[in-house]
Amino acid sequence: MAEVIVVGGGIAGLCAGALLARDGHHVVLLERDGTAPPASPEDLWSAWERRGVGQFRMLHFFLARFREHAEAELPEVVTAMEEAGALRSNPLDGMPEAMSGGSRPGDERFTVLTGRRPVVEAAICRAVADQPGLELRRATAVRGLLGGEPVRPGVPHVKGVVTEDGTELHADLVVDASGRRSPLPGWLAAIGARPPEEEREDSGFLYYGRHFRSSDGSVPPAFGPLLQPYGSVSVLTLPADNGTWGVGVITSGSDAALRRLRLPEVWERVVKSYPLVAHWLDGEPISGVDVMANIEDRHRRYWCDGAPCATGVLAVGDSWACTNPSLGRGASIGLQHVLCLRDLLREVPAADASDLLTRWDEVTSAVVEPLYRDTLAFDRHRLAEIRAELEGVPYETEDPGWLLGQALRHGAAKDPDLLRGFLSVSLLLERGGDVLSRPGVAERAIALGQPEPAPGPDREQLLTLVGG
Ligand SMILES: Cc1cc2nc3c(=O)[nH]c(=O)nc-3n(C[C@H](O)[C@H](O)[C@H](O)COP(=O)(O)OP(=O)(O)OC[C@H]3O[C@@H](n4cnc5c(N)ncnc54)[C@H](O)[C@@H]3O)c2cc1C
Repeated sequence: MAEVIVVGGGIAGLCAGALLARDGHHVVLLERDGTAPPASPEDLWSAWERRGVGQFRMLHFFLARFREHAEAELPEVVTAMEEAGALRSNPLDGMPEAMSGGSRPGDERFTVLTGRRPVVEAAICRAVADQPGLELRRATAVRGLLGGEPVRPGVPHVKGVVTEDGTELHADLVVDASGRRSPLPGWLAAIGARPPEEEREDSGFLYYGRHFRSSDGSVPPAFGPLLQPYGSVSVLTLPADNGTWGVGVITSGSDAALRRLRLPEVWERVVKSYPLVAHWLDGEPISGVDVMANIEDRHRRYWCDGAPCATGVLAVGDSWACTNPSLGRGASIGLQHVLCLRDLLREVPAADASDLLTRWDEVTSAVVEPLYRDTLAFDRHRLAEIRAELEGVPYETEDPGWLLGQALRHGAAKDPDLLRGFLSVSLLLERGGDVLSRPGVAERAIALGQPEPAPGPDREQLLTLVGG
């Protein structure tokens, strides 16, 4: 069993700490932010200081894949989420039978357990804090890595970390879960490691999100998918814990004409103009309009000339790769990634540092990277579609992945099998290619999947609503 240091106590770091400690490793989890979560959901929402997570109070939704993994591997997290008021719901419930085809065996897999980010993260914290073998140290920022004796010629080895106050902590393995802004490449450079292969660009999207609460603990009914494209914008409607929910308008970052969406009265006027969404405004606002820009798509492969950049350290969750979050996949992908790590350490001891890093690269590329690539592909197409809309031309592409995915989305409204396929993909239970390669699915989607635009303002009407 290994001595492990996890850097960062966000969702991926907490789950990694709990899973590894349960397997008998001794884990020290170092979190820069100093405040423990307050007890009540409302204090969590209004008062929990989490400067280390830029998106802390932005719209979040936790997909069925997150619930599925948590139920199988971290049941105490599920219990804590439910005690904290997380919403358990199934998108098929309440759908007209003509659309859902009635209830079917296996439909329970579409159930989600979701809530506002602070509420979910606090529940995970509470559930894992007393885990034997896991030591959570708050207000402890890592400043860099400690270089050790190489175990593979020419490849630096990491034997621990240095914290901001200069304390040196030793470990067999350092797991970097420090999120989107992870400084790992710089830390590696400082011990003489070569840089990772990095892909990085602005995702091109801008978020205008707002949270609401009902007076009776209910959440509004969904009259369509949670993420609905409307020409040059997309609208997100995300039910959450304790009778709260979030509504978001996503635009292209280059769409300067829509920047006035940051003004609550403009934002509200626009959301109200979409008939399938307007009722999501019927609640008490519990936030202003929160704007998030410059959201990067970024992927790092810590691999160089057939060898790891360093041994003794690896990256999980957003530190490894992150994307525009409109598909709500980050937490599920992070949990999947740390499960891969837990499983790998059952096969390859941390002491086999070189073998471990080689296998880690293989497992990450095989299991987790495809989820990142699918997400990126979706975003690129959606951004290009918005660009075409702004130019007043139809979006044309030959990419069968996008065309069939769109056909599946449109066909889902007319065919209960396609609906389940679409839900499987959007809740990250399966990849689009897997669903569409099942016999007959692509053919049916193509036959049925003619787009019927959801009702809402056209571009000119939208600009009038935004004004200015
Ligand atoms: C606008 C937005 C909306 C999103 N919506 C969704 C959604 O709907 N659904 C979803 O699943 N995902 C969503 N995500 C992604 C999701 O937030 C992350 O993927 C998920 O939280 C996993 O992140 P993580 O644990 O890897 O990193 P984080 O949650 O960012 O945690 C990193 C932690 O590391 C700590 N840290 C950083 N540096 C140091 C250091 N030097 N020393 C010690 N600690 C350090 C930070 O304080 C922080 O606690 C969204 C992201 C954005 C940007």
